[in-house]
Amino acid sequence: MSVSKRKFKAEVNKILDLMIHSLYSHKEIFLRELISNASDAVDKARYASLTDASLGIEGADWKIRLIPDKEAGTLTVRDNGIGMTRDEAAEALGTIAHSGTKEFMKLLESRDVKDNPELIGQFGVGFYSAFMVADQVTVVTRKAGAAPGEAVIWRSEADGTYTLEDTEKAERGTDVILKIKEDARQYLEEWELRKIVKQYSDFIEYPIVMDVVRSKPDPDDKEKSVSETTEETLNSRKAIWLKEKSEITAEEYNEFYKHLSHDFTDPLRTIHYRAEGTTEFSALLYLPKKRPFDIFYQDYKIGPALYVRRVQIMDHCEAMLPTYLRFVKGVVESSDLPLNVSREILQDNRTVAVIRKNLTKRILDTLAEMKRDDAEAYGAFYEEFGRILKEGIHHDYERRETIADLLLFESTKTEAGKKITLAEYIERMQPEQKEIYYITGADRASAESSPYLEIFKEKGIEVLIMTDDFDDIIITGLGSYKEKEFHSAIKGDLDLGEGNKEEQKKEYGDLLELMKEELKGLVGEVRISGRLKDSAVCLVAGEHDLDPKMVKMFEAMGQVVPKGQRVLEVNPNHELIGRMKTLFAADRGSAQLKEYVGLLYDQALLLEGDRPRDPVAFARAMSKLMAEGVVKG
Ligand code: ADP
Repeated sequence: MSVSKRKFKAEVNKILDLMIHSLYSHKEIFLRELISNASDAVDKARYASLTDASLGIEGADWKIRLIPDKEAGTLTVRDNGIGMTRDEAAEALGTIAHSGTKEFMKLLESRDVKDNPELIGQFGVGFYSAFMVADQVTVVTRKAGAAPGEAVIWRSEADGTYTLEDTEKAERGTDVILKIKEDARQYLEEWELRKIVKQYSDFIEYPIVMDVVRSKPDPDDKEKSVSETTEETLNSRKAIWLKEKSEITAEEYNEFYKHLSHDFTDPLRTIHYRAEGTTEFSALLYLPKKRPFDIFYQDYKIGPALYVRRVQIMDHCEAMLPTYLRFVKGVVESSDLPLNVSREILQDNRTVAVIRKNLTKRILDTLAEMKRDDAEAYGAFYEEFGRILKEGIHHDYERRETIADLLLFESTKTEAGKKITLAEYIERMQPEQKEIYYITGADRASAESSPYLEIFKEKGIEVLIMTDDFDDIIITGLGSYKEKEFHSAIKGDLDLGEGNKEEQKKEYGDLLELMKEELKGLVGEVRISGRLKDSAVCLVAGEHDLDPKMVKMFEAMGQVVPKGQRVLEVNPNHELIGRMKTLFAADRGSAQLKEYVGLLYDQALLLEGDRPRDPVAFARAMSKLMAEGVVKG
């Protein structure tokens, strides 16, 4: 059939441009990426052979072959894996199937990717890295189950287009043929290929073979030598997770992590163990150092790779890990699962549930250990993943205490950027203090300057500062820690034994009634404040109401939220409130007094970071008052 010429999607061109013009270091990773794709393709074929006998590929001799050809200047990476149809080739090698593409492009523009080539691997655009070393790439592929005449040739010179052409191919699988650039000819050398495979792809399960030519003495004439070609396997193929810990070096662990995660940085921690007993499995898990940029995307893949009897069943088994541990990468191998297990079966499989529980415990234990023994490393981990881990308080009721032990917060008494645990907070509590106080806010500065903290400052009481948007939900859900209740500094009544509230209540009772009447529909109650020192008033949410920050967030998402009845708190020790009381005693119906009440309410809104109800009217009233003050003064 015909040759058809097609255009790459815009993002492919961008990636290609970047590959070719910006990435100078680590060009050799192209081979790792191509071998990794070949290995994935073989995994898929092997798995298909188990579940679909009609493909007729059982017992195949799975293999990845490197064919350097110095004369032609080409390097071929050949596999006998699943292959691609014409449509699949166009889809897989002409677009980037990733929902976060736009964000990724932005990220590329904002950072210096020359120093961060790992970003590319993480994003799964491995194939295109071939263009770092090749000026033309040809892919000849035949899908498993398709006839020899149903193969296809994909070809591109990274000039914005590629071609597709029908062809014949005798064997199932894919050949990726690179026309090696002049300045990259070392990738045609046997020793160089051998070195790269050893470094990056040693644990690939399938043999990576190459024909090597050796000269040996001619048996007929000892003076001469003859050359002999033999097929050599370049990788040791050891499933690292099945080996004994003592047999594995730190480098091997790190290399395997990079292979799994496409990360370029070494992992923060490695967890490797074998569980024996009724359910047996091996697990090799890693905590990364840095948060992958796509971890908050919908299509972020959760869970370790799952192997059953050395066969990879899936590259991410989400049933194996709770989502709040989705930053953990790794491999789990169990022989207690059937080979043809599907995702649906895994969701409520007993063995999987046991493994999941065990992995969860191990990971949380490791974090607890790290927190205890290496606070600095734990702090760095928490910066990257604390926000995700915290979701566990909400989702994993059974372990919420354990997760709460792992939380870190800044407080009004920590240096900026330094964090403490809840246990440390409790240790530092004032002798008479009964509750754990916290304040939510957009950032530390705005939380710290808020009027809600006045009394705490005065009394030297530490308040935890929480800046993640869902902190209030998490903390409300947790309720208490080590039998100490949490109390939001901006919610509910506060009684820190300040002043004589009962007397003040009587003294100001009538004024407060008037204020309540004036603010009908806006606040449910007006009361004497136990938290103000310098400010005259503030608005407080009911103890069981949603945090105002959450209310705003939900509203921004277009949701209607029950706000509860707000409370206006009044500081009886403030000069203004004293004067209002005098005015009230002289003239209960004073129009000026009513105007003040309205202005105070608007001020309270301002203090919360909100706008006055009617900014223009507010400004006018303020100006009027100031003018009066100036005249009088
Ligand atoms: P990723 O491997 O992360 O998906 P790549 O850009 O490396 O990204 O590859 C894109 C897609 O091309 C793969 O997901 C796969 O569908 C297809 N592909 C690449 N190489 C092969 C191969 N050797 N055999 C079959 N399919 C392949």
